[in-house]
Amino acid sequence: MTASGESGAPATTSDPDCVFCSILAGKIPSAAVRESERIYAFRDIAPQAAVHVLVIPRTHEYANAGEIASGDPELAAELLREAAAVAKGEGLAEGGYRIVLNTGHHAGQTVYHVHAHVLGGEPLGRFGAPE
Ligand code: 5GP
Ligand code: ZN
Repeated sequence: MTASGESGAPATTSDPDCVFCSILAGKIPSAAVRESERIYAFRDIAPQAAVHVLVIPRTHEYANAGEIASGDPELAAELLREAAAVAKGEGLAEGGYRIVLNTGHHAGQTVYHVHAHVLGGEPLGRFGAPE
């Protein structure tokens, strides 16, 4: 499905089978953290740290970081700016935090609607080791 954005904003795409698109449509409730015209940030339902927020574009168009960086570099930059703003708003800037963009099966990606995880609020473990 394709719909025109408000006030001349670029069109967004949506997938009825995507959990994040259902959240954006209000069909699945979520705890909002930040909202802008093109980005939505909300708390992860299964937090992996004291603070765990997901930052997503309102469009379903891009499955991962590489796709959004190639397809819409400005939106990719906005995703990272919003992730940093979430971290600041959640009080993570001083202590530090991690932004994670899982890509594909081996990285544990389960939702193929690009999203940045913002993790922090406590010392984080090392990353990258096999389970
Ligand atoms: P991935 O594993 O694809 O990098 O991250 C997907 C994230 O989405 C997971 O951390 C998972 O907990 C979160 N998630 C999946 N379904 C829901 C949901 O219905 N609501 C919220 N708030 N988060 C969800
Ligand atoms: Zn989606």
